[in-house]
Amino acid sequence: MQKKIDEFLKDVKTVAIAGHVNPDGDCVGSCMGMYLYLKDNFPQIQTEVYLEAPRRAFYVIRDLDKAKQDCVEYPCDLLILLDISSHDRIGVASCLLKSAKRVLCLDHHKTNRDSYTWLFNYPEISSTCEVVWNFLDSDKIGEKCAEALYMGMVHDTGVFQYASTSPRTMRIAASLMEKGIPFSRLIDETYYQKTFVQNQLLGRALVESFLMFDGKLIVSCIRKRDMDFYHATPADMDGIVSQMRNTSGVEVSVFMYELSEGTWKVSLRSVDQVDVSTVAQFFGGGGHARAAGVTMQGSCYDVINNLTQHLEKDLRQ
Ligand code: 5GP
Ligand code: MN
Repeated sequence: MQKKIDEFLKDVKTVAIAGHVNPDGDCVGSCMGMYLYLKDNFPQIQTEVYLEAPRRAFYVIRDLDKAKQDCVEYPCDLLILLDISSHDRIGVASCLLKSAKRVLCLDHHKTNRDSYTWLFNYPEISSTCEVVWNFLDSDKIGEKCAEALYMGMVHDTGVFQYASTSPRTMRIAASLMEKGIPFSRLIDETYYQKTFVQNQLLGRALVESFLMFDGKLIVSCIRKRDMDFYHATPADMDGIVSQMRNTSGVEVSVFMYELSEGTWKVSLRSVDQVDVSTVAQFFGGGGHARAAGVTMQGSCYDVINNLTQHLEKDLRQ
């Protein structure tokens, strides 16, 4: 039997909702969807949402300006963690993990093996927004909540393209459309549109990319000094690795940018054969079979060497 969020809210007076650092569309969508649903249907509960530095484009989601960027520890009755993949990625709201009376984690990352009061993890489901929708009462979803959930589904399915998109995903998306949401605008403004800086960085990453293993692997990196030149933030790097993956013949794309001298945020994408989550997990990261990430140390060549040693077997077949 599908559990509903109501079951976790009995005797609850304070709720905190948190996602992961550098929140992507699914993270912003699921956190805001849950937040707006609780605000609409449980006004007696004091609900806060924590999202660290969301991209400007995500502010089409209403009330995102109410999301808190910093956090003071307090004993909330229920902490709801969404799309986090691993407890070490919670960011600002991680202080709440110690003091929260109960923790409910909803996720869809196969690498999430943490323990919470309740963990509902569905790796076969395309987005955390879809997982969240299952916990809500469809009739009680308002337009604002529907916009947030729809946006997250769009992002984690690559606009309903990836193999994780199921007939049920489409049915849920349809029911959200029926709430009267501006779906074209949500897709265009949050998924396809890029800022000038984002496009410049994308261009740079593509120009400097190179192929390995007979064109099955494409790699590129952007150094800190180049990011500083463009005044770029980590959020500006979203989507570069997916564009690299669109190169014909490529099975795996690897894009990395330097967080600080010698520390690299690495993103991996796979077309349909290689499970990149196992490689990411080996180096302390995680994610999904077709999209994973990890933070690694060294020069960019050290990072590439370490990764390719693990990818070689899969890509030589
Ligand atoms: P991205 O490459 O877009 O940062 O992340 C791809 C997927 O891998 C996302 O689902 C994200 O949550 C997950 N991911 C990215 N970096 C990490 C990491 O350092 N640790 C874990 N556990 N998951 C990650
Ligand atoms: Mn997700």
